Amino acid sequence: MQQYDQHITLITPDAPVATSTHGGRAKCLQRLVRLALPVPCTLALSFQTVRRIAQGEMPAAEQLLAPFDPYAILCVRPSSEDPDWGGPGAVLNIGMNDARYVEMSETIGQQAAAGLYLRFVQSFAIHVARLDPEAFEDVSDDPVIGLKQALAAYEDETEEEFPQDPGVQLGEVLRSMARAWEGTSARLLRQAKGAPADAGLGLVVQEMALGLGEGECGSGVMQLVNSQTGARQITGRYLSQSQGREALSGGADALFLERDPRGPSLEELAPEAFAELKAHTALMRVKLREEMQAEFTIENGKLFLLDGVRVARNARAAVAIAVSLAEDKIIPREEALMRVEPRALNELLHRQVDPEAPRDVLARGIAASPGAASGRIVFSATEAQASESRGEPCILVRRETSSEDIRGMHASVGVLTERGGMTSHAAVIGRGMGKPCVVGASAIEFHMRRKFLVFPDGRRLKAGDMMTLDGTSGEILAGDTPLLEPARDESLATLMEWADAARDIAVRANADTPADAEVARTFKAQGIGLCRTEHMFFEADRLTVMREMIFADSGEDRAAALELLLPMQRADFIDLFRIMQGQPVCIRLFDPPLHEFLPTDRSGMLELAEALDLPLSDVTRRVEALGEYNPMLGMRGVRLGITVPEIYEMQARAIFEATVAASHEGEPVVPEIMIPLVSARREVELVKARVDAVATAVRNETGKEFTYRLGVMVETPRAALRAGEIAPLVSFLSFGTNDLTQMTYGLSRDDAGRFMSKYVQQGVYAEDPFHTLDADGVGELLEIGAERGRKAKPNLVLSICGEHGGNPESIAFCRAAGFDYVSCSPFRVPVARLAAAQLAV
Ligand code: PEP
Ligand code: MG
Repeated sequence: MQQYDQHITLITPDAPVATSTHGGRAKCLQRLVRLALPVPCTLALSFQTVRRIAQGEMPAAEQLLAPFDPYAILCVRPSSEDPDWGGPGAVLNIGMNDARYVEMSETIGQQAAAGLYLRFVQSFAIHVARLDPEAFEDVSDDPVIGLKQALAAYEDETEEEFPQDPGVQLGEVLRSMARAWEGTSARLLRQAKGAPADAGLGLVVQEMALGLGEGECGSGVMQLVNSQTGARQITGRYLSQSQGREALSGGADALFLERDPRGPSLEELAPEAFAELKAHTALMRVKLREEMQAEFTIENGKLFLLDGVRVARNARAAVAIAVSLAEDKIIPREEALMRVEPRALNELLHRQVDPEAPRDVLARGIAASPGAASGRIVFSATEAQASESRGEPCILVRRETSSEDIRGMHASVGVLTERGGMTSHAAVIGRGMGKPCVVGASAIEFHMRRKFLVFPDGRRLKAGDMMTLDGTSGEILAGDTPLLEPARDESLATLMEWADAARDIAVRANADTPADAEVARTFKAQGIGLCRTEHMFFEADRLTVMREMIFADSGEDRAAALELLLPMQRADFIDLFRIMQGQPVCIRLFDPPLHEFLPTDRSGMLELAEALDLPLSDVTRRVEALGEYNPMLGMRGVRLGITVPEIYEMQARAIFEATVAASHEGEPVVPEIMIPLVSARREVELVKARVDAVATAVRNETGKEFTYRLGVMVETPRAALRAGEIAPLVSFLSFGTNDLTQMTYGLSRDDAGRFMSKYVQQGVYAEDPFHTLDADGVGELLEIGAERGRKAKPNLVLSICGEHGGNPESIAFCRAAGFDYVSCSPFRVPVARLAAAQLAV
């Protein structure tokens, strides 16, 4: 048995115990021992030992029992490398048998001795002998009677006597725990949590401090912070005459720890043990550099620390804990930044489904915009507005959304669509508004005219029924579900300040309207990286003017429509410049995929005919004439600007007039103007010449000097490939990875949702490329574009403004490729700021 020696180690300050060989619990216990905390004698079994035990090789009982007092009662607990990977449950009171029961009845009383033995018989029967728990459900509450019943039930079921030899008992417990770890379901479960296939399990055998017996005996847990908020507050419970974590389910009998108006406390009952415990827990925080929960037992008034575990926490508490550890100089700020998962910030920025609440999942779609909301189902924008005016929160359900639905999206608390993917209209707008949105929920039957939904299990919900959308997980839940409010507290602000000081890539926001810009400022975006100007015309009263412009088929009509648009645009730009207070504002010239601006049904056409004072037949004919087979590849972006130059000229004028109006003495506004969907250098030359001419005209008319920066959106593969010839004409290139992904894959942004989940499930794509930047393909185009662009023009500013701009992985990619900034929807700005900081520390 010599071979086991280095793997079966008594935990002493110098013992060779490591997380990678004996697991996190064993290592933590060694740290507590080094701090001279009152930890009972503990033996650590390495991963290798446990693996051999599972294969049937058992170390000699003498070796396992040698370190312990011959009268010790023992427990075995799992010690995996990462506590999140789980492990078999602890088994307590090993060593209890008939003889010990008789002896201990003398020393600690019969009730307590019976209680210890009974707990052991039950857990041995269920976890080791694998008997049906039901056989032990009806044992008496009186432990002396209960013990007799439990032993009888054990013998009945196994036709064997309950094992009496402590060495045999311990061996059986170790074997069953070792085998449980190797079981298929345990393996799958931990792999789902990120454990490697060969993750090992260590075990710790610990002498028990008895929570049952004479004098003050009991057990409990203590932590110094609230797990939900991270606020400093002693939490936990203590239960007299209990073991393990029983205090947590001890109901009304469990005591508070600190003096509490709600009931009796450990502090009153055992002030010395309480003070000692508090000091130990505080010491763990400092020395283990982490907020810890102490698991403790009081035996006849004396305190023992059985274990320390990392305090469980939600995202809000994680931020508060990390910040407070750094503020107390226990960890450096850089480490605090690394301890918060950037995506987890979404939990602080949006409402969330209460994780404790029951979830009745009806279906799943693509999680397109995070946060959760409950509301009554409505099937149209008009109904959404009516519902809002009645003060009833509603969820807007559409097959897909278009500009006509914007007012309905504003009026609703969340949006569900049958079609679409991460970059479809509903998804982009939902994220911009910070509203929960689930798209591509094609497993649901949408009966739009008859106003009901049929879910995969056959359940139906109709207009007016309550439903909850979880845009973070993509789940659609039945009924009204309890939600947790967002928590943008001081700790978050502090963490963000540290992130800003650490990072070396800028973060801007995609903001289309003055309202978006206000949000962008709240989240401390360093400017606007993309203002989609056509989105400024989604509001009902403006939509008609935009449509009038699109509809115009004579130069005169178009000029009239543009005259109406100009002052609106100018006013918006003045607002944007004012709100952003001198930070850069990058305005993209119109890129309206025409189908998003045309009415789709008869009532829409009728509405438009009325608004334009045209016969319905004219409107229908014009809509047909403008219809495209492939609108996302049609008359979009710069193609519109080349074909109908007056449109971009009007926009340039609005931008420059706003520049003059918003510039102050010594604080000039320098607008950035960006051309969308470029595929050829000549397009840029043509637009540049016209924009320059408008700038000269406005300078002459106003007598004011100003400058501006022109840039190109790289959204077609050709623009990336030809970046070298485009760059000399412009100051910046901004990669629009939504369209670039669409065009690189030949995948429709609006239709890919239909098959994307099948593709991902079967591993065709590792992930939805509209969600996670495809580093191999689209990424190569980014690198080519960046390299060729910078080669032709070394001071060329590079950025990304597609929806990927807010993803930590894309930010890492862009930073490595030498980009100057990323731009993402305002609500994702904090996530991007933290992710960027983590790359730099
Ligand atoms: C893009 O294509 O990545 C982009 C930002 O533009 P839009 O989403 O408006 O097409
Ligand atoms: Mg685009």
